[in-house]
Amino acid sequence: MRIVVSGAAGFIGSHLCDRLLAEGHAVEALDNFLTGSRRNVAHLAGNPRFRLAEVDITRPFAVEGPVDGVVNMASPASPKDYLEHPIETLDAGSLGTRRMLELALEKGARFLLTSTSECYGDPLEHPQVETYWGHVNPVGPRSCYDESKRFAEALTMAYHRVHGLRTNIARIFNTYGPRMKLDDGRVVPAFMDQALRGQPLTVFGDGSQTRSFCYVADLVDGLCRLMLSEERYPVNLGNPREMTILEFAERIRRLTGSRSEVIFEPLPEDDPRQRRPDIAKARALLGWEPKVALEDGLRLSVEYFRGIHAAA
Ligand code: UDP
Repeated sequence: MRIVVSGAAGFIGSHLCDRLLAEGHAVEALDNFLTGSRRNVAHLAGNPRFRLAEVDITRPFAVEGPVDGVVNMASPASPKDYLEHPIETLDAGSLGTRRMLELALEKGARFLLTSTSECYGDPLEHPQVETYWGHVNPVGPRSCYDESKRFAEALTMAYHRVHGLRTNIARIFNTYGPRMKLDDGRVVPAFMDQALRGQPLTVFGDGSQTRSFCYVADLVDGLCRLMLSEERYPVNLGNPREMTILEFAERIRRLTGSRSEVIFEPLPEDDPRQRRPDIAKARALLGWEPKVALEDGLRLSVEYFRGIHAAA
């Protein structure tokens, strides 16, 4: 198949490209490099089935030739990035998603939207099931991301209903692994960077808020399975193993053998108190569940971040 991937130079996007190419597909990779990095896909440069184009999907663009699949991943995705670029984030989810849906329609291709657990906001139901409508502050600092993705989901469903487009929607929960940006502010690279430098680990709030972390290879496997399914409604993809952020800080300290202390900083506004995916739907529908243990995934990530430090 020939597959167009927007946001291909991002953290998850680049891993998805690797996987699609390994399966023998051809990839037309699009990125505007606002938060993505050429370095994430530099190793694919010599691959004749991989083409990278600098494209901002919120503006008119064309893809020549037949296309079988369209994957719309483009968006700033870390709180730091989308707080810095709120308008670009809203544009990516709305205008960008619209253009990617039109591309799929024009080419008769199937379409995958990568949405987010942020659609559930600061959830009042726990764990989060796909049928939960969420608890989102529509005007808070995170709303640019949450509402942009919620709009993107609505638009995707509308294209399916109006045009019969074969669509899928993944709600991605916290994902980690190599190629995360060291300075994107997210907790995994932040703690690893701090631990490796021997600087204090900055826990926001009292650290009692929870997250569940999924290794990127597992997540990409879920995306590939979802892309082939006939399910039109959103499917959660994430690892149900939940822990507090304070526990997570301790784990990173132990793993890196760091003597960094833990310090507490103010909790960002609207930071969700708890988050854990209910993945019963993905299990039943896709035969999918995460396979990589947190300890193994974190070890692979630390190796990557050590390499980045060494090269700096
Ligand atoms: N967090 C933290 N210290 C940091 C960065 C993040 O304690 O240096 C917390 C953050 O407040 C949140 C959790 O870790 O409760 C996950 O944050 P992240 O930005 O990775 O992703 P989110 O799940 O909030 O989108």
